Amino acid sequence: MNILIIGSGGRESAFAWKISQSAKCQKLFIAPGNAGTRQYGTNINLKVTDFQGIRAFVLSNDINLVLVGPEEPLVKGIHDFFLADEQLKNIPVIGPQQHAAQLEGSKDFSKQFMQKHNIPTAAYKTFTKDTLQDGLTYLATAGLPVVLKADGLAAGKGVLICLTLEEAQLELTQMLVEAKFGEASSSVVVEQFLQGIELSVFVMTDGTNYKILPEAKDYKRIGEGDTGLNTGGMGSVSPVPFADAAFMQKVEQRVIIPTIEGLKKDNIPYKGFIFIGLMNSDGEPWVIEYNCRMGDPETESVMPRIQSDFVDLLLGVAEGNLNERELVISDKTAATVVMVAGGYPGEYLKNRVITGTENVHESIVFHAGTSPDGENVITTGGRVLAITTLQDTMFTALQQATADASRIYYDGMYFRRDIGFDLL
Ligand code: ATP
Repeated sequence: MNILIIGSGGRESAFAWKISQSAKCQKLFIAPGNAGTRQYGTNINLKVTDFQGIRAFVLSNDINLVLVGPEEPLVKGIHDFFLADEQLKNIPVIGPQQHAAQLEGSKDFSKQFMQKHNIPTAAYKTFTKDTLQDGLTYLATAGLPVVLKADGLAAGKGVLICLTLEEAQLELTQMLVEAKFGEASSSVVVEQFLQGIELSVFVMTDGTNYKILPEAKDYKRIGEGDTGLNTGGMGSVSPVPFADAAFMQKVEQRVIIPTIEGLKKDNIPYKGFIFIGLMNSDGEPWVIEYNCRMGDPETESVMPRIQSDFVDLLLGVAEGNLNERELVISDKTAATVVMVAGGYPGEYLKNRVITGTENVHESIVFHAGTSPDGENVITTGGRVLAITTLQDTMFTALQQATADASRIYYDGMYFRRDIGFDLL
């Protein structure tokens, strides 16, 4: 079969790497892809939200399955676009429809869903400009710290953890009245602060059956020791030692099953991935957020641990018989170190030639913000490469990924040398 992956980051590189190993995949295309995805398939120069362009490409290239990487096309309704088109409606899209994508696209929608289906999550209330006064009063009674979340997508920047009441009231006012995060903060979720350690759990579902993929921990801050500004993610590790069998059983019983059942009860079809951001508070799981797609850089650590044919699993999602498909997971440790551009996550350097990837033998070099430039490969994004290794022990995995990242060079390159070491 012929498969089209939508997206261009490290996540899509990891999908492409894994899918290209399947005997079930004849031709693989990545739109738009990056310099690295050319090793696994053919890049197609289309924007992820160019639905008409994607339509024309799918029809003229006999595409049999579309895997959507990032949230933007899902939240904008790419799956619904396919279903509404006579010629496309039978081509399966992996990724939920627009309504279900609100689990990620609207914090208020996801909180209401969790509350309705008794899924453990922090207590909250949602406010708009019209209810600002109620919001300010509510803040005065809520404990500190308190969490303010812009309802809509704000590129990971719309969440504020406020330590004082004055700060919280000022921020709430700015979000609602001055549109601090634009349209995304026209509605704001005010939520209780949860103490604990975070991890990401990934579920693949056809809407009825589900498989739990390897869990992962990601590292969001730019600086070592988890300091400095937030980024898209500086590294990831899978498995997560504190997500032991007892904890994962609670996650399955209290979160995953009620989520799948809740979608069914609410008549929300869902074919794709559910990324559950969890807080482990003294061994108890609390949901921080849902995302309607896989995580980046978690996917780079998750894919190498999947030993089964990933295309077979995708077909299970498409055909509604995921329960009949096999998912074997390696018990080795995958570690991913993300290499970023100088200056990231602020203004960053671009168009720097990357050298040394040929010296990496024990890790996979997943490309993210890279482009071909004649014979060279140059940096074009903030997150440039994701270096992933799979090893028998966590210690060797962490060491190997870090050592392999240092074999690569470009002007201004930076990566964290402490990814995962807190887990040892
Ligand atoms: P991302 O783009 O990172 O997925 P997001 O904008 O979708 O983020 P959330 O994941 O809901 O927003 O929150 C971002 C981060 O803020 C979380 O990863 C977590 O560290 C912190 N956070 C969110 N809610 C809470 C909470 N209730 N208690 C403690 N920390 C929280």
